[in-house]
Amino acid sequence: MKFGSPRETAPGELRVALTPEAALQLQKLGYECVIETGAGKAAGFSDEAYRGVGVTVVDSAALLYKTSDVIAKVRPPEAAEVDRLEPGKTLISFFYPAQNKELLEQARSSGATVIAMDMVPRISRAQKMDALSSMANIAGYRAVIEAGNNFGRFFTGQVTAAGKVPPAKVLVIGAGVAGLAAIGTATSLGAITYAFDVRPEVAEQIESMGAEFVFLDFGEEQQDGAATGGYAAPSSPEFREKQLAKFRELAPQIDIVITTALIPGRDAPKLWLADMVTAMKPGSVVIDLAAERGGNCDLTVPDERIVSDNGVIVIGYTDFPSRMATQASTLYATNIRHMLADLTPGKDGVIVHNMDDDVIRGATVTKDGAITYPPPPPKVQ
Ligand code: NAD
Repeated sequence: MKFGSPRETAPGELRVALTPEAALQLQKLGYECVIETGAGKAAGFSDEAYRGVGVTVVDSAALLYKTSDVIAKVRPPEAAEVDRLEPGKTLISFFYPAQNKELLEQARSSGATVIAMDMVPRISRAQKMDALSSMANIAGYRAVIEAGNNFGRFFTGQVTAAGKVPPAKVLVIGAGVAGLAAIGTATSLGAITYAFDVRPEVAEQIESMGAEFVFLDFGEEQQDGAATGGYAAPSSPEFREKQLAKFRELAPQIDIVITTALIPGRDAPKLWLADMVTAMKPGSVVIDLAAERGGNCDLTVPDERIVSDNGVIVIGYTDFPSRMATQASTLYATNIRHMLADLTPGKDGVIVHNMDDDVIRGATVTKDGAITYPPPPPKVQ
């Protein structure tokens, strides 16, 4: 079978779903690889680099879709791309079926199989294809780099001939994959890092990354983010008030806030309120990784960098992984080829779409003219 990746069409998207390295691995699984000309350019992979490992470079997306049996891309397809699908073809990409109902219906009616990388179950066996985590890891790292680029001081404390420099104080709100990556990056740059999460079980992970867990005195239930399958649930009003009071207390001394708090299926909770921004020192930075879902900070404008009246920089970029396109493409392409490895047990370039496999079942959102989303709960954890 032929495996192809088109150029991403979303404005500003620099990632690509196939790298030369991944192509070599896919060839070992029996696939002939095809790429649209220029698809890897912005991520640092030239047409020549693909040709050098035996990938066929085609001139147009139309030809790419026509030629390929399996099409892998990063962003959810546009309607015009779904129009190019047909029975017998498989599309693999981020899809967000819950938010893209019309697209899902369009994909169903194309008769093609669609595998949503965002629906890969987060069980141990599937970690190698967990693209959400790969991208969240990059976003967390890049958030700190972006903060450093906007912050007028060092992260680490220094004693220099020209004077003593205090270390920056960083607060990370939400310690999932992105938050833990941000904590690791901030502490490795020498910042004093604090982190908060509603899930108490992450305290140990926060501390093992060198940060201080922000503790709320909440009686028996120290943190009450009643969790489902490792994810947070909305907090009670009492808990939320305590949390906000703690943030108000911290705001004047924190230089950089990185917010990553999300609750599945809901808008991002507002946690860094306008008065907290006002209480921060001029030149402080807020990076809101939840911007795409409405933002954790009152002042966040998605995709914008704004400066508050008191001189605090609030960044709501939604393209952090794309800002590290080479790294993001490398990890994403690796996630994709691991998915293909599971779909190709014979290593013969033939897909065996086993709907009894929890991971494949969980990620499949359309198949044989039917919508297969949402999946039943996985049997294995
Ligand atoms: P996420 O992006 O859904 O949320 C980010 C973080 O925000 C979470 O840690 C959440 O608890 C936190 N949060 C929500 N409301 C908050 C609030 N009011 N205040 C502070 N923090 C708040 O999380 P994620 O990165 O997708 O990870 C979710 C879970 O999945 C974690 O338990 C993670 O360890 C787990 N996970 C497991 C695997 C696996 O393969 N086993 C892979 C990835 C993630």
